[in-house]
Formats: sequence, structure tokens, C-alpha cells
Amino acid sequence: MRDISLEVVVTGLVQGVGFRPFVYRIATKSELTGWVQNTNENVKIQVTGTPENIECFLHSLKNETPQAAAIDKISTLEIATENFASFSIHGSHNVSDEITEISPDIAVCDECLQDIDQPGSRLDYAFVNCTNCGPRFTIIQDLPYDRAKTTMKSFTMCPDCQAEYKNVLDRRFHAQPTACSICGPEYELLIGKNKISGDINFILEKVSQYIENGGVLLIKGLGGMHLACDAFNETAVQKLRDLKNREGKPFAVMFRDLESLKLYADLNAQEEQSLVSWRRPIVLLEKKYAKDQQVLAESLNSGLNLLGVMLPYMPFQYLLFRNLKTKAIVLTSGNFSSEPILIDNELALEQFSSLVDAVVLHNRDIYNRTDDSVVRIIGNKERIFRRSRGYVPTPVRTALNTEGIVAFGAELTNCFCVGKGQKAFLSQHIGDLQGLETTLFYEKTLAQFIQLFRVKPSLLAVDMHPEYVSTKTGMNFGNLPVVQVQHHHAHIASCMAENHLDEKVIGVALDGTGYGTDGNIWGGEFLVCDLNDFTRVTHFDYIPLPGGDLAAEEPWRTAVSWLYKVYGADFLSLELPLLKQIDPEKIRLIIQMMDRNINCPLTSGAGRLFDCVASLLDLVQVATFQAEGPMRLESIIEHNSIESYTFTSGKTIRFDDTIRGIVEDIQLGIDKATISTKFHNTIISVIFESVNIIRQVEGINKVVLSGGVFQNKYLLEGTIAILLSSHFEVYSHASVPTNDGGIALGQLAVASKRRELLCV
Ligand code: ZN
Ligand code: ZN
Ligand code: FE
Repeated sequence: MRDISLEVVVTGLVQGVGFRPFVYRIATKSELTGWVQNTNENVKIQVTGTPENIECFLHSLKNETPQAAAIDKISTLEIATENFASFSIHGSHNVSDEITEISPDIAVCDECLQDIDQPGSRLDYAFVNCTNCGPRFTIIQDLPYDRAKTTMKSFTMCPDCQAEYKNVLDRRFHAQPTACSICGPEYELLIGKNKISGDINFILEKVSQYIENGGVLLIKGLGGMHLACDAFNETAVQKLRDLKNREGKPFAVMFRDLESLKLYADLNAQEEQSLVSWRRPIVLLEKKYAKDQQVLAESLNSGLNLLGVMLPYMPFQYLLFRNLKTKAIVLTSGNFSSEPILIDNELALEQFSSLVDAVVLHNRDIYNRTDDSVVRIIGNKERIFRRSRGYVPTPVRTALNTEGIVAFGAELTNCFCVGKGQKAFLSQHIGDLQGLETTLFYEKTLAQFIQLFRVKPSLLAVDMHPEYVSTKTGMNFGNLPVVQVQHHHAHIASCMAENHLDEKVIGVALDGTGYGTDGNIWGGEFLVCDLNDFTRVTHFDYIPLPGGDLAAEEPWRTAVSWLYKVYGADFLSLELPLLKQIDPEKIRLIIQMMDRNINCPLTSGAGRLFDCVASLLDLVQVATFQAEGPMRLESIIEHNSIESYTFTSGKTIRFDDTIRGIVEDIQLGIDKATISTKFHNTIISVIFESVNIIRQVEGINKVVLSGGVFQNKYLLEGTIAILLSSHFEVYSHASVPTNDGGIALGQLAVASKRRELLCV
């Protein structure tokens, strides 16, 4: 059969993931000649061969792609037949500033794990990697992705590594971070600030001893430092909590393997898939009490039923578990509460060397800081809660022109977002913009993203809250137009952008707090909106928030506010655990504050209503971590109750009867699980009834759900189910956080739409 030639252009995440060697392999297997080349925009391929062989090649191209590659589009064009002697890989070719994508970090692959067992220069070598795995984003300083533009530039390849790097047929062909024990980075063990050893086997042995004996260690990882201890040792876990400044938040646990993990959590196929994926996130799972098994430290997950678990992803972690007897270790970010994860060796020693038993560092610098990502499977879909290692900087593909837009995000769980073409590059999880360290991390990363993705800022988007650090940063960024986006409009727009919606929808935004256009604190919002603008149709009724922000930390304040609203001063004579827990003098003061309207901003925040119920049930009075009230409430749910409480809908949604019902149930001695379930069912009914009313009036059938409250599995699954049964089209978040970590994408989408409509 006559030979033909085809030009193939592949776009998407196709660089730094072993794509060209893959193309080489499938082309030669299909007996084709031609070439493959990286450009700044895509991968270009030219092949010559029989139509059948070319067909076979295209089939492999689509179906056998390397695990971390993500093909956006393959376009083919038949061209005049050109004959080549063989198939070759051409050097990179710069076309323009239209950069291709940067790969996130990839968990160590099976073949590399085999290498650390083989005699040779990679035996027990903890930095082994290849084109299919290893560090990427965390070490990249600039593009194009070349070793010289990574933090690996200070290591000169030995002749063997060099030979593999240059060999097209080798798994390490153009593996930029490739290294071996002769030429690559190394670990070191320090006690106090003194280096004890640089020998990996000695280090592993010592680290294991410390962990088995209840010690706490600081260990440098891929995107930052971790604090580690035995997950079964209560005293060690307490010690870890203390040295992080008494952090109350649940800790993540790394299990040695899937088999051990399954003893402590039940997982479905979807959850298992996320756990073993090359992204290796922390997956939130329901804890299981294993019979005849050692018990995990009780305080690990602060008494919640959820456990954040992950599997090893770095060679060092695999090597460590070989030495360790324990099945699981706590691996939490190495930092003091409220500060970003540490990446700097000097600073880490300064802050932690006197607090921990030992420090394990390495000399491969971390350029882009990343935390472990957190996901939860809800409605059989992976939902990302904290988007960082393994996910960033993969762009969100939108249907909008995002070019040159910089969106600054919210205040808590901040991420920002920069636009390039139709892609939105959402930053890694930055954290709460309240401390100096986090603010510096924010500013630095923003500058790095703008440089890395060659963004020329032309339009800025910020929250409406005048006091947010992010708003102020945006306002002072430069002499550029600024779009201010209402917080809950941004939530809904974020979910719309993720789902490629660009029309009028019903938006349900439930979260803790966001600045409203009337100056009040919103957070239980029913909107009719498109990307450009919104109307607030109805919302949770306002209640005073005695002490403002302090109320989010002390749920009992909101509970007192609700009780006072519903019962007046009579509530003081009710039989409620809350009234026994809190000093009556404090309660009297709160009532005074409300009477005189001193520091009592009004809120419609759904999060506060959850807080109030959590306090009434005495699950939490003073929170030790964000959203503790709502998390504890969800944690005790029983799935066998379909009952709910009464509420009133209309211009606002009133929960006075709900509170009354809950108080009555408490007094009747109804168990907390039933009350919590009934409360959740109530919120699902509120959503259902409200969107039904809006559909009748507006004729809109698409419902978009967003806001941190939808991290609640029972609530999201229940809401989706009831809406689908009434033939609504329902949209929720998956690859973008539903919490404030997703806000920046919404801001960017609104700014893009307003620019398109020439409103800015
Ligand atoms: Zn590998
Ligand atoms: Zn080497
Ligand atoms: Fe929010």
C-alpha cells in the first residue's frame, strides 16, 4: 500500500511527562518514520507510513498516553508524502510566549521503585525519578522546562545519568530532575542544629527508631516540610499538637500500603482510585474501628468520624516504611499553626530543631511551595478541598477569554488565579491571609505565576470586602482597571466557569461569611445570576453576630443570639447544656451587646446556623479549628432519619421554628445523631423549596451549588438527589474547591464576562 504523510498536533499537558519518548516508541512500533518536536504551544509530530500503520499509531496516541499527560486536542492534517530514514526526536523549538502547561509533581513510579532495589547507583537512592514520575512544579523556576531552569541546576549529571538523559530509548530521556547517588541530592540527619549523618541507611534506621519510640521529627518532603510521628502513639500525637502551637485540626495519616489502610477505613472503588492515583492526595475517609487491630491515636482526627489518609509518594517514604514496623505515621505540614508550610532549610532548623527529636533535610531546593492536597469522594466524584501538590498548576479550562486577568481571591483558604487564553491557572492553596508569613507567600507566589505563565496583567478582580488583604493587594497592584465581585456571586461564577455555563442560573451559595452589597455578612444566599451580574432573591434571615469574627471561633455566641431572637430573655430558664457550659456573666454581656447593638454585625451565614446547632448539641462551644461546628454536626449524622424541622420561606428564610424544634428535641432527650440528621434534612428542604419557587417565577432549570457548606457529603448528596428527582439540572464543584479556595476562579470569570460586555 502507498505511504502517506500526516502532520499531528497535540495540545494539553504533554511536556515534562515523557510524551516525546512515548511518541517515539509508538511510532517505531507502528513502523512509521518522521519526527516529534516540543514547541512552546504544543507537541508537533510528522509521520510517514501506510494508512493502516498510521491508524494504529493514532489509536495508541489516544489510548496509551503516559499517566500524567492530559491531551486536550489532537488535530491531524494529511500533507504531501515526505520520506524519512527513521523516526527521530527533534530539539525544543520556541515559537512564542504561548507557553504549554507545566506538569504537577508526580508520585514515584513502579519502575523507579524497582530501581531502588537493584544494585547500582540508585540502590536505596531516595531521589530516583524518570520522565514518568518525580518532582515538577515544586522545582520549576522558569520555562521552557529544562534542568537549567529548575532547582536541580546545581547538580551536574554524572556520565551514566548523562547517557540515560540523552538516550531516546531510555526511561530517563530528557528527565530533567534525573539523578543518582553519585551525582544527585542527598538527605541529612540533624539533631539540634548538628549534622549527624548523610548516610541514607543510617538516617532511615535512626528515623525509624525515633518514630517507634514516640518521637516527633521534622522531615523535608516534596513541596515543604512535614512533621511526623507514629499514628498509633497518643502521647506522640499530643506532643506534635503542642509543638505546632496546640493545633486542633485533624492530622493526616500516611499508611504504609493500601492493605494496611483498609484495616482502618472502608473504601469504595472511587476512593481507592484517588488514593493510588499519581496525584496521591489526602483522601477523607470514614474511620473504621478494626477488630483485633492496634488502635489509631484517638486525638488524631479530633474525635471526628473522618480520617485524612494518603499513601507514600516519595522514594524516601517508601524506604522509610521498609524500616518502620508501624503501619502508619502522622504526616502533617511542618509549620506553626496559621503559617505556610516551611520550605527553607535554615528557617526550618531555626524554628523546629529545638522542638523536635530530629530533623531530616535534603539539599534539593523547593521553589514552588505545595501542601498535600485534600479530596473527598462525594456523589461518586472526586471533589477537591485543598488544591495543591499533584494538581497545581494544571489549568482550569474555561470557555471564556481570560487573557491578562489576575483575580486575587478571598481572605481565608486563599488561592489566586491568573488567566491565559481560555485557561485559568489557579494557584496552589495559599492559606489564611492573616499572618505576615502567609501574606508574603501570597505576594511571592503571585509574582511567580505571572512570570512563569507569561501573563501580562490587564484587568484585576477582587472581593468586595474592603479589609481583605487580597482586596488591598489588588487595589494597590498597579494602574489597571479593577472589577469588584461580590463574594457569593464569585462562588457561583466559579462553579459556572468550572462547568462551562454562561447563562442565567439559580445559584445557591452557602458558606460562613462573605461581604454583602448591603454591608452585612452574607452566607445563606439564593441568587439568580449569570456571569456578569446577580440578583439576591432570598437569603437566610439575618441575626446579630455578637463579637463579629469572634463568633466564628466561639459558636456559643451565635447560639445565644439565636436563642435570644427566638425566646427573648426567657431562654435563660431553658434546660440546655450550653447554659451550663458557659459562664452566665458572659451570656449576660452578650445580651447587653445585642440590646445596645455594640459590635453585632448582621449575618445570613449558613455556617453560623450550623455553628449554633453544634453549640446547642454541646458538640463545640469554642472551636479549635475552622468549621469545627459544621464538621462535628456532620460527623454524628445517622442516615436513617427522614424527618426534618419546620422553617418559613419567603423574602427571607426564617429558622425560628427550626431552633424551637431543636430545643424541644433536646429537652425530650432525643439523641444528638437524630437531631443533627433532622437539621441537615431541614437545610436540604430549604434549598429544595427555595429553588422550586425561583424556578416557578423565573423559569430557570439550572441550579448551581457552591460555598464551603457543600463540603458536607450528606448535604451535597442529599441536595443533588432531591433536585435531580424534580428534574433540575444540577451543577457542583469537583476539580475546583467549593470553599473560598475556588473564589478566585469566579472573580476571574466575572471580570472576563464584564470585559466582553465592555462593562470595564
Ligand atoms: Zn519513574
Ligand atoms: Zn548520576
Ligand atoms: Fe465563601
